[in-house]
Amino acid sequence: SSEPRVVLSARGIRKDFGGFSAVRNVDLDVHHARVHALIGPNGAGKTTVFNLLTKFLQPTAGTILLMGQDITRTPPDKVARLGLVRSFQISAVFPHLSVLDNVRVALQRPNNLAHQFWRPVSALDTLNRRADELLGLVGLTKERDRLAADLSYGRKRVLEIATTLALDPKVLLLDEPLAGMGQEDITVVANLIREVAKTRAVLMVEHNLSVVADLCHFVTVLQRGEILAEGDYETVSRDPRVRIAYMGT
Ligand code: ADP
Repeated sequence: SSEPRVVLSARGIRKDFGGFSAVRNVDLDVHHARVHALIGPNGAGKTTVFNLLTKFLQPTAGTILLMGQDITRTPPDKVARLGLVRSFQISAVFPHLSVLDNVRVALQRPNNLAHQFWRPVSALDTLNRRADELLGLVGLTKERDRLAADLSYGRKRVLEIATTLALDPKVLLLDEPLAGMGQEDITVVANLIREVAKTRAVLMVEHNLSVVADLCHFVTVLQRGEILAEGDYETVSRDPRVRIAYMGT
């Protein structure tokens, strides 16, 4: 089969804060139906790259294309509407609503950044069907009537991902989706990410290298704002520069 298509592409992106260059010369190709990891030590520029891609920050230089469309100067709300969605954009899990109602709210108000492009799901049965589909996809059907507040930490993150999926993103950016989880939740969320990535691209910042090894098709390693290495996990993890920079060995 042919190489999956590139859905998000950055060329030569750079971000200067005053005289300090937090990110420079970064080229990134994110593919449909692939999980792509962005790793690197603290301060490497991972968060800045996420902010540049989602347009929360304006790049000092470089170009960003989303499904072929130049979004370098597009505001973040429009970028989200075009299909590039970051998990924390919908991190509002309402604790006093049921799991089902959280998903229904997300489906009716698919972008809490920009209320101006309300996307009504007019018919109630359509709304309920889509809510059930989403809960089924993320494995929360049994919990649908529980209060979100009563879910485990891991399940709350799953619900958060479900509300993000309500936007039907083409590219999903996840910032440390497994942080702070026990092994059981890690397995659940990792399986969900794998499932979700069958029909869209996922770019994730992740510190848990065994998860990266297990889940990610492609790894980009950042160090001091630049790409240090890239490739599949095995290649990258054998790179002596990566071992020194990232693993400290
Ligand atoms: P990471 O997410 O990999 O830990 P960051 O992208 O948060 O790295 O930060 C990269 C570098 O840019 C760090 O040295 C950080 O101090 C700096 N930085 C990030 N945001 C700003 C800002 N708004 N102003 C100045 N420096 C910043």
